[in-house]
Amino acid sequence: MKEDIKTVNDFNFKNKTAIVRVDFNVPINNKSKKILDDTRIKYSIPTIKKIINEYGKVVLISHFGRPKGKRSKTYSLKFIVSNLSKKLKIPIKFSEYCIGETVEKRVNELKNGEILLLENIRFYKEEEEGDENFAFQLSKLGDIYVNDAFSVSHRLHASITITPKFFGKNKCIGFLMKKEIHSLKKIFGKGKKPITILLGGAKIYSKISIIENLINLVDHILIGGGMAYPFIKIQGGKVGDSIVDKYKYNELEKILKNIFDKYKKQDKTNISFPKDVVIADSFKNNANTKISSIYSIPNGWKGLDLGPKSIKYFCKIIKNSQTILWNGPLGVFEFSNFSLGTKSIARAIVNATKNGAFSLIGGGDSIASLKMEQCEKKISYLSTGGGAMLESLKNKILPGIKSIIS
Ligand code: AMP
Repeated sequence: MKEDIKTVNDFNFKNKTAIVRVDFNVPINNKSKKILDDTRIKYSIPTIKKIINEYGKVVLISHFGRPKGKRSKTYSLKFIVSNLSKKLKIPIKFSEYCIGETVEKRVNELKNGEILLLENIRFYKEEEEGDENFAFQLSKLGDIYVNDAFSVSHRLHASITITPKFFGKNKCIGFLMKKEIHSLKKIFGKGKKPITILLGGAKIYSKISIIENLINLVDHILIGGGMAYPFIKIQGGKVGDSIVDKYKYNELEKILKNIFDKYKKQDKTNISFPKDVVIADSFKNNANTKISSIYSIPNGWKGLDLGPKSIKYFCKIIKNSQTILWNGPLGVFEFSNFSLGTKSIARAIVNATKNGAFSLIGGGDSIASLKMEQCEKKISYLSTGGGAMLESLKNKILPGIKSIIS
């Protein structure tokens, strides 16, 4: 990732209006509308404060949920106003529109040090379509563009990749974005060895190319959860009814064969799978269970968690690591009877961190499992973006970052 990317520290915002793209897509209780976790709002504060403390004006742009280009009360961002206002200890103005004369007038009326939050940008279908004219209309609202929305910077959306084009040199990233990039750099190239990457979960497709990319960079790749079974199958193992995408298996087979060939050529052996797994006769918490080798799961049974030997083996590697990156649960942790593997891994990472390792965790489920163990604060860095973090690991400069550099 380029070093010379401009940050908010490169600008003085006095008398300037900054458009700040943030991510206020926070989890809420659908009935009470109570915010369940306001980490993303909290993390946006340093950038906003820097601008208003310098007597600049702030126009905040965010999305919330997937309203699919239509206005709807359910997806309004209005509920953010009081939370943000409390955190900043100043009133926050709200605009129901993101483009057009009404909002332009509201922006012109802003005084130095004031903040205007715009309604959900995804109420306009043009946002997700990356529409050029829509992006231009947005750009009319400010003098400087700031991207502080790491978690959506892998998306080719108008406010992320097109709007910055209209700002020439007057564009930069915010403090949260800087922190995310910095943490990822600690894994790439600068990470203290041994470096261990742990991949679990079920979205095999979106994570597979990461493995190809990291082979030469890391010391251990631990693959667990639903990610493991296609790898076992391709090696001739019997995975019973464990999760393997039947429809995409042929395509997956090719990719996996390539990975194994690359391994053989490089004489590498640092990719590890679970040895034993907890298998179940149905996909429910109180299913009948037994422990089985991951290579010989009978038909009618599926692997839903790490077995005791696998937990011990993975934890030992984590204990001896100096840099650890984790994305995706190691089993169906939503069922308490299949959460032991994921919780044990979370605890092992916390202990390694206590002993000096750098740990970076991304992805809603991995963070949720840390919260189950009440140890999310004991990790070096919790990324605000699972998908964006994964895209970065594919050795890609995220489009949202690219558009600030270019
Ligand atoms: P992802 O979004 O790729 O991190 O996937 C998260 C999901 O993977 C969670 O809902 C887990 O329940 C699921 N998962 C993890 N291990 C397994 C498994 N062995 N079989 C089926 N689903 C799994």
